[in-house]
Amino acid sequence: MMGHSHALSGAVGWMAIVPLVQGQEFFTIRFDLGPGEIIAGALVCAGAALVPDLDHKSATITQTYGLVTKTLSALFNWLFGGHRNGTHSLLFAALMGGLAQALVMWSELAVQVMVFLLLGIAFNGLGFGMEKNRVASGVLNALVTAGITLALFISGVDYAWIGTAVAFGCLLHFVGDIATRMGVPLLWPVAGYRFGQNVGFDTDGSVERHVVTPILTIGLVLYSVYLFPWPELLPNA
Ligand SMILES: [Zn+2]
Repeated sequence: MMGHSHALSGAVGWMAIVPLVQGQEFFTIRFDLGPGEIIAGALVCAGAALVPDLDHKSATITQTYGLVTKTLSALFNWLFGGHRNGTHSLLFAALMGGLAQALVMWSELAVQVMVFLLLGIAFNGLGFGMEKNRVASGVLNALVTAGITLALFISGVDYAWIGTAVAFGCLLHFVGDIATRMGVPLLWPVAGYRFGQNVGFDTDGSVERHVVTPILTIGLVLYSVYLFPWPELLPNA
């Protein structure tokens, strides 16, 4: 799928699991998700849903932070055995989720930096800028991302769930690639079998453009209406 479809699937996917995990406790992590956590989670998950393609040098995510993401891309490509290989495995999703969870337990600052990076990736993936004036849109993206990261910080968003959101975002990426003709080696490095190879719709073809993307967009709107306590959020209501 295209970067924006992956990002959208991450945002919608997070909103879809919110009602299922709300108020529950898994592995000592309690999911008490307020509006701030739902928004932050949707954006973190959208960013994470682009991370597996960091192994490709022309992917949206690789272009997001210039030399930083390009260097990371080369490193990931080498570490995980080329494009759409190790970064498209269950092991990778677990590693990324574990890394995010370790960061949140280690340092408040580290997690803010990670949220900033993932939000920037999410906005870039959702199509903030890129065309025409790349420098200006890059600056705008960074400003918007910083503003939202700061707003979430000030509103006291608790990121205890971030490992789950990051791992889930990676899994949603695999679902997206399996739905297209691309195969995904979920069991790498144990087995090289590529799930969903040659079955599904074409990347950026008419099904993705006219069915998948609109459905994801409508899903995002409907979940936003359903999940947020709008009367309480609106002033003087
Ligand atoms: Zn992919």
